[in-house]
Amino acid sequence: MTLVDLRSDTVTQPTAGMRAAMAAAPLGDDVFGDDPSVNALQEKIAGLLGFEAALFVPTGTQSNLCGILSHCQRGDEYIVGQMAHCYRWEGGGAAVFGSVQPQPLNHQGDGTLALADIEAAIKPDDPHFARTRLLALENTLGGKLLPFEYVEQATALAKDKGLSRHLDGARLFNASVAQAALRGTSAMEEARRIAACFDSVSVCFSKGLGAPVGSALCGSREYIARARRVRKMAGGAMRQAGMLAAAASYALDHHVERLSQDHALAKKLADGLRGIDGLQVETPQTNIMFVDLTGAAREQSKALLKHLASQGVLATGLYRLRFATHLDVQEAGVDRAIAAIGGFFKA
Ligand SMILES: *Cc1c(COP(=O)(O)O)cnc(C)c1O
Repeated sequence: MTLVDLRSDTVTQPTAGMRAAMAAAPLGDDVFGDDPSVNALQEKIAGLLGFEAALFVPTGTQSNLCGILSHCQRGDEYIVGQMAHCYRWEGGGAAVFGSVQPQPLNHQGDGTLALADIEAAIKPDDPHFARTRLLALENTLGGKLLPFEYVEQATALAKDKGLSRHLDGARLFNASVAQAALRGTSAMEEARRIAACFDSVSVCFSKGLGAPVGSALCGSREYIARARRVRKMAGGAMRQAGMLAAAASYALDHHVERLSQDHALAKKLADGLRGIDGLQVETPQTNIMFVDLTGAAREQSKALLKHLASQGVLATGLYRLRFATHLDVQEAGVDRAIAAIGGFFKA
């Protein structure tokens, strides 16, 4: 029985084509700046997103850390969502390593931060306060596509108030594929349109794009030079990293447009679960869907996950289950997940 691993889009295995690209990659020592595959990837992603420069880093967490610490000094603060990865899920790295204080704000139902809340959180220049320097948004956030008009407004507000703008675009291409479907354009065009609202963008290659490792931070040449120093301090300057960069480069060439299949399968999963008593199913906008267990079903949460695992279906969560579709999930796997969940509640 093949596993249907819906825990996260990070679990993908490199495809045969990707492994071949990795094996064939010309290599150098990237700390000396002479790994041709790393340099090519950095130029490619910077060019695709309309930035001067990019930096290949081992993880999205380190990319956000380098990103924030290259915008902010000790005693500065960044405005960020309560559920944002670079606030909530990164061990407080910007505060721990950079003495940069987060100013978290509650999200609206659609994942946005209210413009009035952003404006109210910006501190006046007064020795009582940390210096508000940066607005950090995330797109997609929990699988939600931020409305593009909102992204424009929030980043324009930040710019108007003298703040820099950072995008945690771990799943930028999921966002851009979904946005392209709404606007009838191409995913690359929308990725560039979203990126143009920001001074820096971090993208993950190891999520839906299917690479084993790696993220990139994009920005101006001067900004990326600062980020390179932070990456060194964080221990993220790698040597023959071209094998990993080649995987990321392959993913950009082959795995962007296909994200629409992941989105369609997440919808199919949601549709298949709707109507089961005790399940409140959110309609996914991209590749991540949530199901809330209500009433008596809440008490069965752990038993449900155990039952699913026995059927070769993995998910995460407790009362709110999370399912992520990705490169290694096929239609038959989604059918199996639907049948397993339906079977559990019928039994
Ligand atoms: C996964 C993720 C990260 C961090 O990536 P890692 O490679 O796991 O460190 C950052 N931001 C968001 C939104 C993510 O989903």
